[in-house]
Amino acid sequence: MFIPFIDAHLHPESRSQEDFERLREAGCLGVAALAGGVGVYSEAVCLRDHFRRLADIDRERVRKAGLKVFLGLGLHPAALPAKGTDELLADLPAILKVNGAAAVGEIGLERADETERRVLRLQLDIAADAGLPAVVHTPRADKRRVLEATLDVLRQSRLPPGRVLLDHLDEETIDLAAGAGCALGLSVHPAKLTPTRAASLVGSRPEARCLLSSDLGARPSWLFAVPAAIVAMQDAGVPDAIVRDAAAGRAAAFFFGAS
Ligand SMILES: [Zn+2]
Repeated sequence: MFIPFIDAHLHPESRSQEDFERLREAGCLGVAALAGGVGVYSEAVCLRDHFRRLADIDRERVRKAGLKVFLGLGLHPAALPAKGTDELLADLPAILKVNGAAAVGEIGLERADETERRVLRLQLDIAADAGLPAVVHTPRADKRRVLEATLDVLRQSRLPPGRVLLDHLDEETIDLAAGAGCALGLSVHPAKLTPTRAASLVGSRPEARCLLSSDLGARPSWLFAVPAAIVAMQDAGVPDAIVRDAAAGRAAAFFFGAS
């Protein structure tokens, strides 16, 4: 059965126009287009250009393919500039507003050092003040320890957990994130979850608030990650309502602010 979907986490700047058209043809309704810039930008001014490019060029490219775009802007922990971070953070509320951002992200902790924690806390509060949700990543290394540190920062912030999408979760971290009341992001990606593992995580937690994504970017990733997870959920006998919820319903609620 054909099920429409939302890809809740991707980085459009390094993907082609044709990719977005193919996503639309495969039943994609919309995408969360997030700032990243890991290993690409060294100065705060470059991140400002990155934000402007996402808002002015990439959002329009994705829209042109017929997709709804939830634009996320923020400072990724692995892309913090050597200098100019504080000035950029001070300008972030205005940058979010002028560009009509739908979320703060991708943000989070990578090593969970003091600087990263401070920058995350500030951005969570900026999201709370702007009335926006936040997309918060978990790293590949030391995922559980860093998630615990992330939840610590989240508890100190003004942003309610229901407005936080904790992303790139796996078998080791999903229950901790669920217990905190956050939305649960599953990235179907060569370095993260296979479609089968994502399907089994969704299927075994029917009450969970799971959102599926590809984390498409410049590195190897699967364009049809979310449709592949939908097929895997159907093959595993996951009830249709839960498949539809994970495929699009939760993401729509989260980014439209109803979660
Ligand atoms: Zn990402």
